[in-house]
Amino acid sequence: MKISDLLKVINNHVPFTTAESWDNVGLLIGDENAEITSILTGLDCTVDVVNEAIELGANTIICHHPLIFKGLKQINEQDGYGAIIRKIIQNNINLIAMHTNLDVYPKGVNAMLGEKLGLQNMRILNPEVITYYKVQVFIPEANLTDFKSKLSKYGLAQEGDYEYCFFQSQGTGQFKPVNGANPYLGTMNEIESVNEMKLEFMITEQQQQLAIDLINQYHPYETPVYDLIQLTREADYGLGMIGKLTQSYNVPDFVQYVKEQLNMPSVRFIGNNHSHIETVAIIGGSGIGYEYLAASKGADLFITGDIKHHDALDAKIDGVNLLDINHYSEYVMKEGLKALLINWLAEQDQTVKVNVSQINTDPFTYY
Ligand SMILES: [Zn+2]
Repeated sequence: MKISDLLKVINNHVPFTTAESWDNVGLLIGDENAEITSILTGLDCTVDVVNEAIELGANTIICHHPLIFKGLKQINEQDGYGAIIRKIIQNNINLIAMHTNLDVYPKGVNAMLGEKLGLQNMRILNPEVITYYKVQVFIPEANLTDFKSKLSKYGLAQEGDYEYCFFQSQGTGQFKPVNGANPYLGTMNEIESVNEMKLEFMITEQQQQLAIDLINQYHPYETPVYDLIQLTREADYGLGMIGKLTQSYNVPDFVQYVKEQLNMPSVRFIGNNHSHIETVAIIGGSGIGYEYLAASKGADLFITGDIKHHDALDAKIDGVNLLDINHYSEYVMKEGLKALLINWLAEQDQTVKVNVSQINTDPFTYY
C-alpha cells in the first residue's frame, strides 16, 4: 500500500479539512508514492519515537501532535526539532499528522478517552456547525437540461454519494426590457411572459463563488435572477464528548478511578469536593473554554488537560467542577488509532502492520 492510498483512507474517515485552520495535518514529511512497510502510531514525534520506528522497520509514523508546527530555523544534526526532521528524512520515513481532525472525529481522541472512563451514551459535546447554501435560479425551460448538466459537471448539487440533486418547478417569469437592454428574449419596452423553471439545489460554503460564476456564464439571460440562501446545520462531528458513568461517584473515588483507568500518576481536581459525579464531559489535550458549555449540558464535571490557575479559579468561583488529567492522557490515541486503522484498512482488503509506540513522551515527571 502506498502512502497516497493510506492518506485517502484516512481522509475518507477523518477528513483533513475538518482540522482547525491553524493546525498542520496530513503528510508532513515523506513521499506519497512510497510503499508502506508498517505503521507506528504515536502521540508526539520525538527522536526516541523515530528510533523506535527505525528499529521496527516501520517507514510510516502517524502522530497526533504535528512535529512541524512553529517556525523552524535550522534542520541540522544538533538542534532540537530540526535534528528529528533530518533523521526522519535520512531514514526515508513518512510522517503523517492527525491532530484536530482526529479530535473532532466522533470515534476520535475524545471518544477514546470517554471509552477508557466507561462513559455510556456518549454524544458530541460541541458539534460543528456547517454553513451551506440553497441556490434557486429562474431559467427558461428550453435551457434547463443543458444548464443542469453544466452545474453538475462542476460538482454542484451533490449530496453525499448522490450527484445531480435538483428540484425544479414550473412558473411564469415576467420582464420588460428598457433603456440599453440587450434581451435574449422579448421586445424592447414590452412586458414579456416566459415559461420559466425554478431550479433549486444545495452547495457548500466553498462553492459559493463557483456557483455565481457558472450561473453568470451559462444562464442565457443578460441579467440572471438567482438567490443564495444561507443555511446552517449541525455536523455529525465536533469537539468533546459527554456521557454518563455507570454509577455515581464521590469526588475522591472518581479521581482515583480516573487515575487508574488512564494510568496517570497524578491529576488535579478543581471545584466542590462534595459533588456527586455521574455525567461527565471530556476534551483531551487543552479543552479549557468549553467547561461552561459542558455544565450547561448537564455535566457534573469537565475533564481536560493544561488547566491554568485563573481558568481554575474562575471555574471554582462559578461552581463548575474540573479535572485536569494532563495533556499527555491523550496517549490513549496510540492504541485507539491502531484499532481504527486496522478496521479502515480491512474495509479496503488491505493489511498493513500497525505498531503502537511504547515510548512515553510526557515531558513532565510526577513526584
Ligand atoms: Zn494534544
